[in-house]
Amino acid sequence: MNAYAQRVLDELKAKNPNEPEFHQAATEIIESLSLVFDKHPEFESKGLLEMIVEPERVVSFRVPWVDDNGKVQVNKGYRVQFNSAIGPYKGGIRFHPSVNLSIMKFLGFEQIFKNSLTGTPIGGGKGGCNFDPKGKSDNEIMRFCQAFMSELYRHIGADTDVPAGDIGVGAREIGYMFGYYKKIANEHVGVLTGRGLAYGGSLARKEATGYGLVYLVSEMLTHFGNTLKGQTVVISGSGNVSIYAAEKTMQLGGKVVAMSDSNGYIYDADGIDLALVKEIKEVKRGRISEYVQTRKNAKYVAKHTDIWTIPCQVALPCATQNELDVDAAKALVKNGVIAVGEGANMPTTLEATKVFLDAGVLFAPGKAANAGGVATSALEMAQSSQRMFWSFEEVDQKLHGIMVNIFKNISCAAAEYGQPKNLVLGANIAGFKKLSEAMLAHGVC
Ligand code: NDP
Repeated sequence: MNAYAQRVLDELKAKNPNEPEFHQAATEIIESLSLVFDKHPEFESKGLLEMIVEPERVVSFRVPWVDDNGKVQVNKGYRVQFNSAIGPYKGGIRFHPSVNLSIMKFLGFEQIFKNSLTGTPIGGGKGGCNFDPKGKSDNEIMRFCQAFMSELYRHIGADTDVPAGDIGVGAREIGYMFGYYKKIANEHVGVLTGRGLAYGGSLARKEATGYGLVYLVSEMLTHFGNTLKGQTVVISGSGNVSIYAAEKTMQLGGKVVAMSDSNGYIYDADGIDLALVKEIKEVKRGRISEYVQTRKNAKYVAKHTDIWTIPCQVALPCATQNELDVDAAKALVKNGVIAVGEGANMPTTLEATKVFLDAGVLFAPGKAANAGGVATSALEMAQSSQRMFWSFEEVDQKLHGIMVNIFKNISCAAAEYGQPKNLVLGANIAGFKKLSEAMLAHGVC
């Protein structure tokens, strides 16, 4: 690795111990950028990389709320405002018991490069809380969202920092948080994206991450002489990203045979009945295991990680970080996988990514492949500013154009640096280009 890149990575690890996810995300990106620093030694004297790896601001706060039994619960909330060189901080809010500073920083760091790739004017940030929404009543969810926003509102704003949803934060939670922001800030502005259509949301935002993922994977397959049509596809998770990745896959002629949640996976050789999955997950907020009660020929396996042993040509990990490890990657390669597209953020471990790249499997990294969600959030911001609404087709068409453009940029960057099939490298370098231009233009600040 380039000496400057190695030094910054070593210092980052020493200064931020006990942050393995942040180290992992930083290692992947800095390794790729090493090639850029070989070409541009002048970046070192400007301290560019040191500035990029340090968040502009990290806010951590307590979130006290009262459960249905009248007991006070206290959770830990975060907002990492990582980089605002290209535009206001932008990135989702995650409610999950695993949330900690390391996970917030890895997500915020990835978000900077992802948002740069979209070509829209947004910086990078991320937030969340170690709150577990599972099993909570609707009233508890509302009280918790209000408690979370009662602190977060001080730090965000339509031109400052615009959060959105992520794991555990969907339309319901955005609604409660937006309602409370409006009340205490006394303004009805585009401070959150993923809003309901009745109060300023964008058509196609709900579908955007999953659709965008499949647009990019389809583009990648076509570019390398193949097609999504007729391929067998395995998708992990059964949340927002997974459901709409499955929908677009089916629309483009792929066959989805498996989906999962954190308890287990379903396998349906006839092709997943997506209407049934939506009914279970979106309407009833149930578990994926319920699928086999209706579809008698399908099977349920109570071990979600084994989903990667199912033979398929295309694998779309859409659940969470590090869900696809080296053994899973080897099983997929052995079973003939030709393409992997990351719908989730960093779902593939560094070692597993290497297995795919070494085997010549087409690999679309999350910061490019799942950028459709945040790109459409930027389209929601544009509609809010104009007080205008675009049709579903108009937003979807713009989303498609953005994903095609992202693929073009990352594949060109990969080719420019002599590794045309290495889209991990291409995405990191292409994302860095605009970021570095903006930061250098702003001077030392
Ligand atoms: P949801 O909360 O809607 O769904 C998450 C899904 O992943 C659920 O099926 C959940 O199962 C499963 N899951 C969560 N944790 C684990 C785990 N440890 N092991 C296995 N499965 C797990 O989240 P989203 O669909 O919004 O997000 C999924 C991923 O996509 C995340 O990495 C997120 O950061 C990323 N992403 C999301 C975007 C968006 O627009 N929503 C945009 C870009 C990226 P269970 O119900 O059992 O918890």
